[in-house]
Amino acid sequence: MGSISENLKVVENNIMAACKKSGRSRDLVTLIAVSKTKPVAAIEEAMAEGITVFGENKVQELQMKTASIKTPLHWHMIGHLQNNKVKYLPGMVELIHSVDNKKLADEIEKQAAKHDMVMDILCEVNMACEDTKFGLRPEETIPFLKEISGLSHVNVRGLMTIAPYTDNPESNRIYFKGLRELLEEANSMNIFDHKLDVLSMGMTGDYEVAIEEGATFVRVGTGIFGERDYSKKN
Ligand SMILES: *Cc1c(COP(=O)(O)O)cnc(C)c1O
Repeated sequence: MGSISENLKVVENNIMAACKKSGRSRDLVTLIAVSKTKPVAAIEEAMAEGITVFGENKVQELQMKTASIKTPLHWHMIGHLQNNKVKYLPGMVELIHSVDNKKLADEIEKQAAKHDMVMDILCEVNMACEDTKFGLRPEETIPFLKEISGLSHVNVRGLMTIAPYTDNPESNRIYFKGLRELLEEANSMNIFDHKLDVLSMGMTGDYEVAIEEGATFVRVGTGIFGERDYSKKN
């Protein structure tokens, strides 16, 4: 791995190549720099390279980082979310990627209403039906979207998936394609008044394949900031 600046150049080149290969415009894909466990100094290094969209998976870490960085940034909550933490998110994050149950959606509705705002969310789908992962099963997704479509302070923008960990990114293509097809199915059914236009899929190991299959957000951590060290406290 190189410096954050060098890593970002590599990632950007890979994103451009994947867009070119699949005939997609570069501006259809937004890179989310996943800064979880990384210090504020690392985020500032990425900011110096023009990165403004960051992903975190813990509410407490989000609070700490948003309080210490004064520059306005686009923060995304990408991790599993407990209902009792939802109240901290309105006004702090732009998009919650990990909604997979009705109670959580109801809590987001309640807290967003309290703040007199509408919260953008994605529904997380466990495309490979891994026991170790959160998310809806693919076949539960359309019924779930229907179930939450009436919430007036929750704006469903699209779908998110975390594909299996693998050394062969091609083996995840089927899951990315499947997520895109689920989005298209939901759109063809007109469950919402608006079209779903967000697909959050692809991480360090597989973001190029995800882009080829239609990702609009890729979430890259290790590829930008290097390996995470979970043994030390941040
Ligand atoms: C940690 C994390 C990522 C980034 O993973 P890398 O493999 O380090 O790129 C992406 N998405 C989610 C939901 C994560 O928790």
